[in-house]
Amino acid sequence: MAGSSATLGQRHAQLRAALRQRGAAALLVSTPNNIRYLTNHAGSSGALVVTADTMHLLVDFRYEEAVRQLQETAAACPSLQMWPVPASYDEAVVACVLEVGLNDVAFEGQHVSVARFDWLRRAFEARGATVALSPTQGLVEAGRAIKDAAEVALLREAGRRLGGVVEAAFGAIAAGRTEREVAGTIEAALRAAGYERTAFDTIVASGPHSALPHHRAGGRQLGRGELVVLDFGGVLDGYCCDLTRTVAVGDPGPERRRIHDAVREAQQAAIEAIRPGIMTSAVDAAARDVLVRHDLGEAFGHGTGHGLGLDVHEEPRLTRPRADVPPVPLEPGMVFTIEPGAYVPGLGGVRIEDDILVTDTGYEVLTSAPRELLTF
Ligand code: ZN
Ligand code: ZN
Repeated sequence: MAGSSATLGQRHAQLRAALRQRGAAALLVSTPNNIRYLTNHAGSSGALVVTADTMHLLVDFRYEEAVRQLQETAAACPSLQMWPVPASYDEAVVACVLEVGLNDVAFEGQHVSVARFDWLRRAFEARGATVALSPTQGLVEAGRAIKDAAEVALLREAGRRLGGVVEAAFGAIAAGRTEREVAGTIEAALRAAGYERTAFDTIVASGPHSALPHHRAGGRQLGRGELVVLDFGGVLDGYCCDLTRTVAVGDPGPERRRIHDAVREAQQAAIEAIRPGIMTSAVDAAARDVLVRHDLGEAFGHGTGHGLGLDVHEEPRLTRPRADVPPVPLEPGMVFTIEPGAYVPGLGGVRIEDDILVTDTGYEVLTSAPRELLTF
């Protein structure tokens, strides 16, 4: 379990401080992974109303017993009050807010649809209640971006276990095998390593497919001289890891080797730039500059990395500065991928990805596998 009662208490204190700063009496949390982060309740649905002294957790019949059992353990959620959901979650939220007597409730602006917001507003009106609803951005996510000790331990273990899965993936590479067969071997190895599920659809992209950054795995057979991008990850007790290696089937020739060397150099430059205080955009630039120098700037069309945690893509985002993704300084406890790539139609693509923890003085690489171009 990722969070002990004491750990959850620290997360609550941090969130409540942020709420006080906004002058909000309560926050309605509706994202399942944010609810999990704050309560350890891992259901696919639920609603949470956080007030100054209570975590009001609304769950339907399917989860009531699970929450009761959780509350008997060392991972019990402090100040939890469980509310049954007899019909719809939104009706239960309205009932809870009115019964507790809240007259202003902040909500997660990026997760509540306009239709849902409208329904809640009208429901309070229809009951003659004045409840101000105000959108917030990323209040829980801000806490989630800095991993606490329990989360770091899980992410370190999740990364460590990928070492064996990489070996299995390499063992499956041979001319004539299909992408799907290789993906099957990888996913079986993830299960055998103890992950509860894959973190995302496994990518096995061979030959021309390797030039498509998010090709998954199809019926194509691996051919001699081709590059194969292998991108996979598992979920361990809720926490995601994510790794990519690019290998060759037989001799890939000098041009493809050159691309691989450049991407490896770019990844190394980005990793070596990591330390507290440096901006996310500067880490991205460290990788991008190397690829530009190798005339592969145009071939690198995505960001350098993404945060890892309960979600496989979360804060922080390591990209070029964008209006919707402002750069942030790295802080100890952040965990993210470093995964530059270069994709050249006609030749193929290369991506190399590892998972990194920011430490007080620099970084720790959580995944380990050969980074040189291996041929099979
Ligand atoms: Zn990946
Ligand atoms: Zn990734």
